[in-house]
Amino acid sequence: MESIQVMGVRDLPLIQNGDNIASMICKKVDFHDGDILCVASTIWSKSKGYTKPLDAFTPNERALRLAKLNGEDPRFVQAVLDASKDIIMETPFILSELAFGHIGVRAGVDQSNIEDGMVIFLPPDPMASAEELRKDIHTICGKKVGVIITDTCGRSFRRGQTGNAIGWSGFTAIRDFRGDKDLFGHVLKITEEAVVDEIAGFSNFVMGESNNGVPAVVFRNCSAWTGHNDLYFSRAEDITRKALEKIR
Ligand code: GDP
Ligand code: MN
Ligand code: MN
Repeated sequence: MESIQVMGVRDLPLIQNGDNIASMICKKVDFHDGDILCVASTIWSKSKGYTKPLDAFTPNERALRLAKLNGEDPRFVQAVLDASKDIIMETPFILSELAFGHIGVRAGVDQSNIEDGMVIFLPPDPMASAEELRKDIHTICGKKVGVIITDTCGRSFRRGQTGNAIGWSGFTAIRDFRGDKDLFGHVLKITEEAVVDEIAGFSNFVMGESNNGVPAVVFRNCSAWTGHNDLYFSRAEDITRKALEKIR
């Protein structure tokens, strides 16, 4: 049986605006065709300058109100509001939809792993970011590598955060089992496996959250899959969102 290898990319420096993530990672990793590279959105955003000082935000009335309600810095709340396309929940924390379709706590805006007084935004178009990284790696080392941009996210119903895929390139998000037969010949009607989130979840385990300094993880020997890219529910399908909007 072939085993899947999972390798954390160590010894990368603190990432600065203008750094070329693809070439920095290619210097550390001897890629094989078919490898999957997970990169923390945090370092992608730092390399592209999707960061701002808190002082750049002047809180509006809503930010002041929510800051008081949720016990947060009004400048930070303004940053979260600016990053959001639609606010789904205001308290006990802001839950919002971003322009690229992701729904996340505090719009995924981070104050960790960056200098004091700075915030990191999620990349505005992580699908394009993943494609850019995949193509750059191919140009640099000639290898066909799939890419996932990850972020650590909270979830419903369960305590604890896990890694999620916010952008991917080189494969589909979903492995579609619908139409397959199970061990007893029953045709599967519902099962779509969110493979990119499973891989992102394990990469997050290797990355850790604090001072590990492992912002990239390589998976080798994963078998290929087929499916589709409709990871996000449409508004009509999303029963959780509908329920939250009712109580808002
Ligand atoms: P997020 O999940 O994308 O919000 O990123 P985290 O802040 O949780 O960081 C994920 C991993 O990357 C952790 O191991 C961090 O220590 C590491 N990390 C974050 N920023 C940097 C950086 O600039 N350089 C290096 N080498 N590691 C970093
Ligand atoms: Mn994050
Ligand atoms: Mn994280």
